[in-house]
Amino acid sequence: MSETHLQKIPLLPKEVLHKFVSDYFNRKHTYQAAVEKHGSPLWILESSVLKEKAGQFSNAFNQYFNKTSFYFAMKSNNHPDVSATLLEYGFGLDVSSGEELKTALALNANDIIFSGPGKTNKELSLAVQHKDRTIILLDSFSELEQLKALVSRSDFTHPVRVGIRLTTNPNGLWRKFGILPEKLLTFWNQVKDLSNIQFKGLQFHSSWNLTPDRQVEFIVLLGTILKNMPEDFNNSIEFIDIGGGYWPEEGEWLQSAGTPEGIYNAAIGKDPGPLDVHYRIPGTPIKTFAQTLFKAIQSHLFPFVNCRICFEPGRWICHSAMQILFMVTDKKANDLVITDAGTNAIGWERFETDYFPILNLSRPSLQENPCHILGSLCTPHDVWGVHLFRR
Ligand SMILES: *Cc1c(COP(=O)(O)O)cnc(C)c1O
Repeated sequence: MSETHLQKIPLLPKEVLHKFVSDYFNRKHTYQAAVEKHGSPLWILESSVLKEKAGQFSNAFNQYFNKTSFYFAMKSNNHPDVSATLLEYGFGLDVSSGEELKTALALNANDIIFSGPGKTNKELSLAVQHKDRTIILLDSFSELEQLKALVSRSDFTHPVRVGIRLTTNPNGLWRKFGILPEKLLTFWNQVKDLSNIQFKGLQFHSSWNLTPDRQVEFIVLLGTILKNMPEDFNNSIEFIDIGGGYWPEEGEWLQSAGTPEGIYNAAIGKDPGPLDVHYRIPGTPIKTFAQTLFKAIQSHLFPFVNCRICFEPGRWICHSAMQILFMVTDKKANDLVITDAGTNAIGWERFETDYFPILNLSRPSLQENPCHILGSLCTPHDVWGVHLFRR
């Protein structure tokens, strides 16, 4: 790739950034009081924001669809209070491991979907034990065999409810998820006559959707498959779960090092780019997602199935509901500070490429100054950011 072929990412408009930052400065007393009470560093969960987001998301889709269910993808934030708040709001839970399933069960969730590849026997057994509250989204033919073996000696009055996950992209690393849509008929023939296992629906999921394009593309493909499926199969479908992956509306905020140009420059040994600007790949309002996805589903799927549509939003729901608060423990220069938290609290070296505003709550200002804000871990990659909003 040459420099001239690089896609230019637009700048993050100052007015968008300032509105975002001032909303948090307006709540600074709440944050400061929380740190005084509980100490630093501190994660803070704003349940009201969580509920507001859950409401915005479900309202957007319920405006178009008659039958819906919403499942919070617990892996996007597995703090039990996040799930508990969303359960209160009427969401179900989408779990992707035995630990998440245990958490969901302990929270008394009664509408759980268990998705993800490579489920162990132990995990499947737990799901079977709680089959009144759990739908298993099978990831492969061998997982169906595994489940069949598990329930072969049972005689259930209510069978285990299952769905099947479909592969959205047969190439690259996403091929690890689900079965190919072309294999649906084979799958149906293996599942339709089982007495302890009952097929209920389909799932697919693609991530990082800044627009609905990729989801629509798969819905169109699925329509061509359903068109050729036997009627008893299409009639057995009670739900189609179209997954999560909705990027929050504010779009993707990047440091220059996270832009194609910055990555290119780094690869040829040049500076990634100016540090005093931020970039934004624009997002899509959730209402637009809802309208576009409804149109696609109405044209391509509803001619063949009459079913509930399920959603598995993760980050769209929880992203803006949690903040991390920390303090400066050492000021080594006017533009270099060390904080009492490290980015292991986040889990990856995210802020080297992604831009998240850092606000000095003690000295609020809409003026952003260059400053290395680095954590206390023994690695130079422990970076919170290279700018600070402060007086
Ligand atoms: C990760 C994941 C989600 C949630 O993804 P977000 O991008 O956080 O919305 C939903 N469903 C499945 C199966 C997932 O793996």
